[in-house]
Amino acid sequence: MKLEGKVAIITGSSRGIGACIARRYGAEGARVAVVAHSNLDKAEAVVKEINDAGGEAKAFQADVAQVSECDRLAGEVIAAFGTVDILVNNAGIFTAVPIEDTTEEIWDTQIDLNLKGSFFMARAVVPTMKAKGSGKIINITSIAGVGGFPNSGAYCSSKGGQVNMVNALCLELAKDGINVNSLAPGNIKTDMNAPYRAEAGYDERQASLTPTGVGHMDPNELTGAAVFLASSDSDQVHGANLLVDGGWAAW
Ligand code: NAD
Repeated sequence: MKLEGKVAIITGSSRGIGACIARRYGAEGARVAVVAHSNLDKAEAVVKEINDAGGEAKAFQADVAQVSECDRLAGEVIAAFGTVDILVNNAGIFTAVPIEDTTEEIWDTQIDLNLKGSFFMARAVVPTMKAKGSGKIINITSIAGVGGFPNSGAYCSSKGGQVNMVNALCLELAKDGINVNSLAPGNIKTDMNAPYRAEAGYDERQASLTPTGVGHMDPNELTGAAVFLASSDSDQVHGANLLVDGGWAAW
């Protein structure tokens, strides 16, 4: 097991990519804080799966778009588990609209969660990680952080910001034994893009843009990279944006 004895916070882990990473971290021996935005029942269901499989997990609730909630969440996890070793900034939202229809609210909602939330969750765990001289901070970014998507100006801005945030934070925190990296998924089959996948030709279009010919990957296909970035195997990896995208960004 790669994460024995470690404590991991995974935001937005009551479903989708976050839930898959939570289950995998639990199987790798980590004690896992499964964090829901509002629906604690869904987080409890993921916790039960992890515990039933022989792991250890606990459910938490937080709106990580709010700085005070980031601080409260980190405090609650540290109170429950005694420390924090791994933070996965996974919570995110995606709203596809043309620039003319992008309201201030649509912009703020994506920036506040995807970008600001990642930064302030990192800020909330850094004192504990610095005190122990080790830690792993992983931003779940996107191929939309390294390339553009039409009708996604706010989302691409938030994901590109998350990618470069990793460079800035790693320069600041590497000397403290803290690894700051990101994992950039390609198109993944989750609730986030279910409405778009329902559109005729959408999956086929993404498949045509991906050298593997796979339009949308299974979220479990990301979990090996998430374990790598959380484990001692990546101790000398700082400021990376690890693409798990079926080659989408290689064109
Ligand atoms: P999802 O919609 O299934 O999951 C997102 C999670 O974030 C949910 O659990 C949701 O409750 C949570 N969340 C939303 N608002 C929140 C808030 N204010 N505070 C706390 N939690 C909140 O989507 P997903 O596909 O699993 O996405 C996970 C991450 O992966 C996101 O950061 C997303 O941008 C990124 N990503 C997804 C894809 C994809 O194709 N699905 C591709 C690249 C990157």
